[in-house]
Amino acid sequence: MLSAKDFAPPDEKCISIIQKLRWKDGVRCIYCDSGVVVKKGKDKRGFQRYLCRGCGRSFNDGTNTIFDKSKLEIWEWFYLIKESRSRSLYSIALDLGRKYEHVWRNAKKMKEYLLAKKIASKLRGDVEVDETYVTAGEKGKRQGRLGGG
Ligand SMILES: [Zn+2]
Repeated sequence: MLSAKDFAPPDEKCISIIQKLRWKDGVRCIYCDSGVVVKKGKDKRGFQRYLCRGCGRSFNDGTNTIFDKSKLEIWEWFYLIKESRSRSLYSIALDLGRKYEHVWRNAKKMKEYLLAKKIASKLRGDVEVDETYVTAGEKGKRQGRLGGG
């Protein structure tokens, strides 16, 4: 019989998707932003672990994400993310054999996380626009000052 797991990518595939999205510009330390980071084996869930040569701290693919310290398995997160777009959390909980409250709490966490991500990227965009504006404004002022003597 097919189970929910048959409709989710295998963990290795999920992890490679996470890595592509998270480290698209190369792995950088999540604490000090150093690019001098070495691979240090894998954790129990299969996430790649990294050691930062800059600050000496270590982290993995899931650190500071919804996958961090979560009781849901990685494929369950992918199942939840995919299925919650079109189906009720109640039926997803049944598929996963999880308590509804547990799935609901994680779905809430996921939505907050995605919203925070969206806000962050929106702010980044706005800050870039602001910087261009400010830089242009300062140039204008400087020229004005020079022009004015
Ligand atoms: Zn570091």
